[in-house]
Amino acid sequence: MKIKLGLLYGGKSAEHEVSLLTARAVSQAINFDKYEVYPIFITKTGEWRKGNALIGPAKSVEKLQFGEGVSKPNSITSFLPVEGSSNDVALAKRNSSLDVIFPLLHGPNGEDGTVQGLLEVLNLPYVGNGVLASAAGMDKVVMKQLFAQAGLKQVPYVHFIRKEWNNNQAALIQQMEESLTWPLFVKPANLGSSVGISKATNREELLKAVELAFKYDRKIIVEQGIVARELEISVLGNDEPRCSVAGEVLPTKDFYDYEAKYEDGTTNYAIPAIVSDGLLKKMQDAAIRAFKVLDCSGLVRADFFVTEEEEVIINEVNTMPGFTPISMYPKLWMESGLSYSELIEELITLAVERYEEKQ
Ligand code: ADP
Ligand code: MG
Ligand code: MG
Repeated sequence: MKIKLGLLYGGKSAEHEVSLLTARAVSQAINFDKYEVYPIFITKTGEWRKGNALIGPAKSVEKLQFGEGVSKPNSITSFLPVEGSSNDVALAKRNSSLDVIFPLLHGPNGEDGTVQGLLEVLNLPYVGNGVLASAAGMDKVVMKQLFAQAGLKQVPYVHFIRKEWNNNQAALIQQMEESLTWPLFVKPANLGSSVGISKATNREELLKAVELAFKYDRKIIVEQGIVARELEISVLGNDEPRCSVAGEVLPTKDFYDYEAKYEDGTTNYAIPAIVSDGLLKKMQDAAIRAFKVLDCSGLVRADFFVTEEEEVIINEVNTMPGFTPISMYPKLWMESGLSYSELIEELITLAVERYEEKQ
């Protein structure tokens, strides 16, 4: 019997297109002798469309949106077990007709624990991080508080919600000016892909940056800017995670913003990064500590700032990092000897193991 694998992709977030590219790449790498692959497409407006099994690798992104059985509009509730049977695991699974889901979604409503919560309720195994790790990893303030508890070094920061800003703006600015040095990085707490992030070098820019960040979230984090290398480590596993070699992001502009990530091609990457054994080890240790303190499972990409003195400062983890074959996460595994297909296979196995352990 083939394993029925649901590929969940698209979504309402800024990374909709990236998700489609990922879904196509995964469908091209998957072993169709072993898996029966079902597309579950979430449109940009949030409509769910579950399709018939793919007959082979998706030839184009358009086929994943409109063709090969994906065009059938389907409400989210059709994924739920029928009424009155929500405690019946076997029936719930039969109704969903899928054995395991691979969520290929980034950002809010994909990477933040919400979809993971839905899949928990459906009692379906799914690839990657659970509700807690996903939610904690999406909120930069919560994430930093947990990192601090794990003894990980971070840049100094200040955080506040809209109400506090409106009521105590002068005091907050004073606090920032006293505890942080310019430039500052202003970020919405719950986002990714650098959306809503700006660098402020003076008070006027700070006000603009805060205003922009509040368009995306009611909670903001303002960090002290740092001049450092940006190095990343891929982590894979459940209870005994392992680390890849390091990769380096080399932005040629001010910082690694949205355009640099997806659009303007100005960023260079070094895979693997040139690092000493000692530095690599320090980053890998920190990556594992970050993975554990957030109670991660499956995968995480841990991103660091490394100063000239080789001080390792954690910036963030991404619980569903970019996953196309040219993205950092899979590339670091390729460099560490694991192919894209093998990586996908291992992630699915880890998903099923975690699910079975909970039963
Ligand atoms: P996202 O989750 O959107 O990727 P990050 O916190 O990683 O947000 O910030 C995006 C980019 O902004 C980083 O990759 C880096 O280039 C730059 N950046 C963020 N914070 C700082 C900081 N404190 N000092 C220097 N650069 C920063
Ligand atoms: Mg991020
Ligand atoms: Mg980042």
